[in-house]
Amino acid sequence: MQIGSFSLIKELNTSVILNTIRDNKSISRAEIAKITGLTPATVTNITGELILKHLIVETTLGKSSGGRKPVMLELNTKGFNTVGVFIGSKYIDISISDLGANIIDTTFSEINDSMTSEEVIAKVIGGIKKVMKKANKKILGIGVGVHGLVRSKEGVSVLAPNLGWENVRIKDLLESEFKLPVFVDNDVKTMTLGEKWFGAGRDADDFVMLYTGYGIGASLVTNGQIYRGALNYACEIGHTTIEAEGPLCSCGNRGCFQMLASEFALLQQIKENGYDKKYFDGEKIDVEEVIDKALAGNEDLMALLKKQAYYIGVGLANIINTFNPSMIILNGFIIKTGGILMPEILKQVQLRSLKYMQSEVNIIFSPLGRDAVFKGAVSLVLSGIFENPWHFFGE
Ligand SMILES: [Zn+2]
Repeated sequence: MQIGSFSLIKELNTSVILNTIRDNKSISRAEIAKITGLTPATVTNITGELILKHLIVETTLGKSSGGRKPVMLELNTKGFNTVGVFIGSKYIDISISDLGANIIDTTFSEINDSMTSEEVIAKVIGGIKKVMKKANKKILGIGVGVHGLVRSKEGVSVLAPNLGWENVRIKDLLESEFKLPVFVDNDVKTMTLGEKWFGAGRDADDFVMLYTGYGIGASLVTNGQIYRGALNYACEIGHTTIEAEGPLCSCGNRGCFQMLASEFALLQQIKENGYDKKYFDGEKIDVEEVIDKALAGNEDLMALLKKQAYYIGVGLANIINTFNPSMIILNGFIIKTGGILMPEILKQVQLRSLKYMQSEVNIIFSPLGRDAVFKGAVSLVLSGIFENPWHFFGE
């Protein structure tokens, strides 16, 4: 045995045990041994240490199969806090939660494309400090979801086009400020983790999340895992072509999905039709205001929303034919319209996807909404720490 290999094995075994406890919510030591194939002695030793570190707790007795009732183990979800950060195209949203993704407090601030990355990161740091004042337990780490291309291992935002970012080292910048572990991923992948661990995806192994924000993004879960591609850039569905000669996108392509269905596209269409002057006062138009007016009877604005639904349906038909998901979870401004756009979306799905697949796919609105990214941030922190638990918790 080489020097260090003992602690490497212990690290791996602890990681497997922690993930098994998390997956099962409440589980006995004997069941952990059975599922993982580890010896009962190893399970007893490692879980004993994890209890001392307050990462797991013993809880109410489980069901007996005849003999003495087993003691169950659970994650100590109330024992620690995590911070979640969403860096979108137009705003930053920050939360503090416990390990069960129960949100304790949030803060919100607007950003714009004239701000430098330093200014945006300074706002992020200010927001984190603000929510940290509401911490009721030790903070385990910070999870960050940011739009665009992200190299998650290094915690680098490689390209965030709506922010004008290239190679912003988010992980390094926040770790040096807070002396806490920081985990960074693409925003939609973070939301998808939130759905997988805490939302509609808990019991689904093959599903797609589609987020219509200022741009449009998707993420695919296959065999229970997020599909990442070679560089973690997979599923930039917003830049797939929906109309070959459509409007020019910032990526250089024409007729990208997000040029036809997204907040950006909607606001563009409002201006092109002169509705900005006709129906809104002031410079800035808020998408929620557009939706409110449309739902209150403005037919012109409703027609634009229906056009968005049409293109979302076209995009979903492509997604269904390509990935054969069991479920598609929609999040973003679309869920604020209630169910009113769903018939148009489903109509396009029915017209354009293969009928053997469309009949098996369940298209739903995210039950988590805005909180998906916060809950995903908790998942980012936990999965990052569970990969090398003793590195973070000390022997
Ligand atoms: Zn594009």
